Amino acid sequence: MTYVVTDNCIKCKYMDCVEVCPVDCFYEGENMLVIHPDECIDCGVCEPECPADAIKPDTDGGLDKWLQVNAEYADKWPNIATKKDAPADAKQFDGEEGKFEKYFSPEPGGGD
Ligand code: SF4
Ligand code: SF4
Repeated sequence: MTYVVTDNCIKCKYMDCVEVCPVDCFYEGENMLVIHPDECIDCGVCEPECPADAIKPDTDGGLDKWLQVNAEYADKWPNIATKKDAPADAKQFDGEEGKFEKYFSPEPGGGD
């Protein structure tokens, strides 16, 4: 199994998760992060740290799309292990439905 980052990370990107991951397996896109499924050791410490409740174990079910997104973009985006400031308007998008369809960007973020 692995943990995956899901819809509510998009445009929130608070980054509390990256500080606690013992194996630094988060990767940064322009407006969300993903977890590398082959690097995640399933420790679960990041899940409660996410203020947007966007991190889920893939065993939750119904997360196939997100597993695919995490796997694909972890290979394309740069690694991130140090917390940066969240976007100024992050709160405004917290909890909005269907963010992937509306806002997902395949562009990479800056990484560390
Ligand atoms: S803490 Fe949650 S919302 Fe923030 S970057 Fe990590 S997964 Fe995304
Ligand atoms: S479950 Fe552990 S290893 Fe996997 S992303 Fe979260 S903190 Fe990192």
